[in-house]
Amino acid sequence: MNADPLRNFVRGLTALIDSGADEVAIFRDGRTLLADLIARDDWLPEAITEPDPASYRIHLLHCDPARRFSVSAMVWGPGQGTPIHDHTVWGMVGVLRGRERCEEFTLRFAPDGPLVPEDVHELGRGDIDLVSPTIGDIHRVSNALADGVSVSIHVYGGDLGALIRSRYDAGGAALPFVTSYASCLIPNPAN
Ligand code: FE
Repeated sequence: MNADPLRNFVRGLTALIDSGADEVAIFRDGRTLLADLIARDDWLPEAITEPDPASYRIHLLHCDPARRFSVSAMVWGPGQGTPIHDHTVWGMVGVLRGRERCEEFTLRFAPDGPLVPEDVHELGRGDIDLVSPTIGDIHRVSNALADGVSVSIHVYGGDLGALIRSRYDAGGAALPFVTSYASCLIPNPAN
């Protein structure tokens, strides 16, 4: 495995954030860095790409020491998907393998709903989606492949394993949750 692509991405994004980049600049320049990272997939250890039959998995790849951003890999088995959820921070999602389906929602009468379905689209290999409270933050993501594994790289403006965010029921009622990383061997200060 050649870790250089991930190392270069982390180095580049760290420098970008050190420079004081705002969300617009992060989406512009960070997106270019992420596009470079997902242009090839041989840097991700194969063991991480193994799906879990029970649920999609989230593997932490890097967390900024000051928790200004984190990088994780999500692995989707056939038919697996998330509940409707938000992020509360900026996020960039790039598809490394396979294909993902993204259903977007808004809270028309925030913060108590109801949820209104918006755009539905699919991301193929190399495609990148952006989320944040300023551009649209609520969606549901699933594997678009009925018979294959999909893998995506997620970059968020915080430690995904510590962010307190919301999942939503069909009526728009919010339930707080914190993401658990797949590996119990990674120390997570939020747990
Ligand atoms: Fe999401």
